[in-house]
Amino acid sequence: TSAEQSPVQPKVKSKNMDVTKIWTETAATRRPAAAFVVIGHVDHGKSTLMGRLLLDTGAVHQRDIDRFRKEATEQGKASFALAWVMDTSADERERGVTVDIAQHHFSTDTADFTILDAPGHRDFVPNMIGGASMADIGVLVVDANQLESGLKGQTREHVLLARAVGLERIVVAVNKMDGAVPAWDQHLFRSVSEEVRKLLTETGFDRDNIKLVPCSGLNGDNVATPPAASGLTAWVTQSSQTLISALEDFAGSTATSSESLNNHLRLQITDIFHASSQHPISVSGRISAGTVQIGEPITIMPSSELASIKAIDVADSPVEYAVAGQLVTLHLTADDIEQLERNVRIGDMLCSSSSPIEVVSDFTTTLLSYQPLLPGPVEVHIGRLQLPGRTTSLLELVDAAGGTVKRKPRIVKAGLRAKVKVTVDRALPGDEGDRVVIRADGETLGSGTISGLGERWIGAA
Ligand code: GDP
Repeated sequence: TSAEQSPVQPKVKSKNMDVTKIWTETAATRRPAAAFVVIGHVDHGKSTLMGRLLLDTGAVHQRDIDRFRKEATEQGKASFALAWVMDTSADERERGVTVDIAQHHFSTDTADFTILDAPGHRDFVPNMIGGASMADIGVLVVDANQLESGLKGQTREHVLLARAVGLERIVVAVNKMDGAVPAWDQHLFRSVSEEVRKLLTETGFDRDNIKLVPCSGLNGDNVATPPAASGLTAWVTQSSQTLISALEDFAGSTATSSESLNNHLRLQITDIFHASSQHPISVSGRISAGTVQIGEPITIMPSSELASIKAIDVADSPVEYAVAGQLVTLHLTADDIEQLERNVRIGDMLCSSSSPIEVVSDFTTTLLSYQPLLPGPVEVHIGRLQLPGRTTSLLELVDAAGGTVKRKPRIVKAGLRAKVKVTVDRALPGDEGDRVVIRADGETLGSGTISGLGERWIGAA
């Protein structure tokens, strides 16, 4: 019978909590929490700084660092001891799984943080797009002594991509101040700050959402605590924030709107893994809308696979529910786990079964082009989703307000805005307003938002 053939929603006992109500009522007692992604040119000190943050906040132990230092010294790379903390991440060690976007948690006196680490191997840019689209804050690491090559290289691309995926707040770590000549040169800090601020504001970051902090990730000065007072560093102690206090300031202003809590559950899947024998299939991601609780029936799109929430972790601790804005790991159960495993992919949308997202195979995006854009094959990035597709027609050039400037252009020159129709090679669980980045041959061609959806349908492609 059809009842036997159609998949059934597996049952997990639910408490049927009114999560929105509980969350709103407990707002005053909650510590601020924020996730950040670390971006910047290779060798400017990103890994070292992250290792430093984890060490100085007690998230990793000095004895672990000492062990890394011993190994690193034996290999003639003593200065990389802190950076190694990131390579052998807690996630990978404890779970024995490899994830593309590792999460490292640490807490300060006033807030809880998650570092989203997209390791810098060959697929760095797609992973960075994924990481940045889950983050509340970007930490841009700039080697103060490499001003020119830094701002010309990956720094520029990362800043552009961070803004393209909707990141608004940025802390600039003006790093390696210990290595400046003279060390902790205030003029150098000022000129680097000016240069970086210019890049950021030109890219569309609001001045109020940019904080610049002089620091040294290597020896820890002005990361968690100001440098020991001396003639050289007095200006730092007197005038500026530490990296941590800058992050805390931003964390205090990340709050979830009740509107997004009341929407249907949406979570883009960023990683899929086996957490343990108890949890054969687990997924992680950031809840972009709604709430989720244990026992809740969910549907994964575009495959329409059904599953239920067996357990939820936030910052590696079990919880009964989670809400929009939080990064979570959801442990799933399904009638046919193998089928679920086969059909669920990174970039899929996990939705409430009462209202799963619809899928499309073409959409219109209003975008800003960074490179000349013609009809042709492209790679479409929406958060962690990465799909081959085509720009099928250039509909019109538009001005900043969206007004038509010219219909059916033959080319969209760099720096212009346009409405472009994009067709993707498989069903896309997308929505109006989603951020899109279009790339080809390893270069970013343009970015914008979905401004119109093609024919929608519910169900597998
Ligand atoms: P990443 O490629 O951006 O992750 O950079 P790493 O963290 O691997 O650091 C690259 C090199 O810069 C290593 O040799 C580090 O020891 C060195 N480095 C990192 N931070 C600092 C710093 O604050 N001061 C100095 N002098 N060197 C640093």
